[in-house]
Amino acid sequence: MEAIVAGAVAGTIPDYQLAAWLMAVTCRGMTPAETSALTAAMVASGETLSLGRLGQATVDKHSTGGVGDKVTLIACPLAAALGVRVPKLSGRGLAHTGGTLDKLESLPGLTVDLEPERFLRQVEQVGIAIAAQSERMVPADRVLYALRDVTGTVPSVPLIASSVMSKKLAAGAAGIVLDVKFGRGAFMPTLEAAHQLASLMVELGSLAGRRVTALLTAMEAPLGRAVGNALEVREALGVLEGQGDPDLREVSVSVAAEMCALAGILADPAPALAAGAGLDRFWALVEAQGGRRRVLPEVAPEAGVVAALEEGWVQTVDALAVGNAVLDLGGGRRRKGDPVDHGVGVVVEARPGAEVRWGDPLCRIYARSPGAAAAIEPALRGAWTVGPEPPALSPHVRGRLTSTPFPRA
Ligand code: URA
Repeated sequence: MEAIVAGAVAGTIPDYQLAAWLMAVTCRGMTPAETSALTAAMVASGETLSLGRLGQATVDKHSTGGVGDKVTLIACPLAAALGVRVPKLSGRGLAHTGGTLDKLESLPGLTVDLEPERFLRQVEQVGIAIAAQSERMVPADRVLYALRDVTGTVPSVPLIASSVMSKKLAAGAAGIVLDVKFGRGAFMPTLEAAHQLASLMVELGSLAGRRVTALLTAMEAPLGRAVGNALEVREALGVLEGQGDPDLREVSVSVAAEMCALAGILADPAPALAAGAGLDRFWALVEAQGGRRRVLPEVAPEAGVVAALEEGWVQTVDALAVGNAVLDLGGGRRRKGDPVDHGVGVVVEARPGAEVRWGDPLCRIYARSPGAAAAIEPALRGAWTVGPEPPALSPHVRGRLTSTPFPRA
């Protein structure tokens, strides 16, 4: 593992051989010991932060990836406003899922490339920093992540576990909250698969002396209404202002509550969110990272509407189909190094449980031309199923795992 990681970072193993190795791992899996060794080698590929001087209230958060998943943009500033210190290394979009870094970069001027010293100082002064893997921090994940994105090697339990946990261990927080997603729009198809991934990550964290809690959350339909980087930032701001989609609020509040619990902070994030507590911290983060307060990201023009051709209740909205449609608009990468159009995306108008009549909008498409919108319309239409009865809706959070607290090494 050390030799592969060193070769990946130094560039002495070419991409085509690394991709072949990643595919072998995706097909054949890894033992827990191999995954643990890979994670350790990835952490050791760069610098690690020591947050001792910030106390025990440091908590990081990570999602295994979903469609419309902007929970980080809400839960992390909210937790920071409640006293948690949040040092977070995030990722870019992976396959059909969005990434926090791409979302943040839709804000004009904002950088996610923070040197470790600046990252640490910002957590100390602002209470929150969100940065990318870099030449200095977890460079191995930077290389492997970008290759996995475009080689069909994302949905692998050991590769996801090592990618997520290497970033969390290197960033140094004492507590880690994981949002492990399952369903059509996630990399884990079932609750059982999510449970397996979550227990492996909880174990990797516990062995490193961290307190870890994992929530298992459903990702069948896009979370909230917006899918696409700038649109998602705008939706997250609406929730931080105390409004917004109830499903998105449910997951964000659950994650923030777990962050507070791991930090030993007695606080109820739900009323704090409704009162707008996280909003100022969000803009403080944006400002500290080079953006400007209250300057919203640019969104592409509304270029098409998908209208209902039947009447009834929306049963399902296929998150994978919506994620792929946004990828087709240019909202993510099909090939390594592809530029991302932050402004494009889809806004869901009819969520599962909504009653629709003929001609009602199912979703709106934000694209650079009517032609680009028309090209994805059939795939989007196929993402909706409509039935004669209202569907039974379940809460999003379906399970929880937590580590036995270990004293910090
Ligand atoms: N998030 C990551 O950081 N890595 C993965 O592999 C999946 C989600």
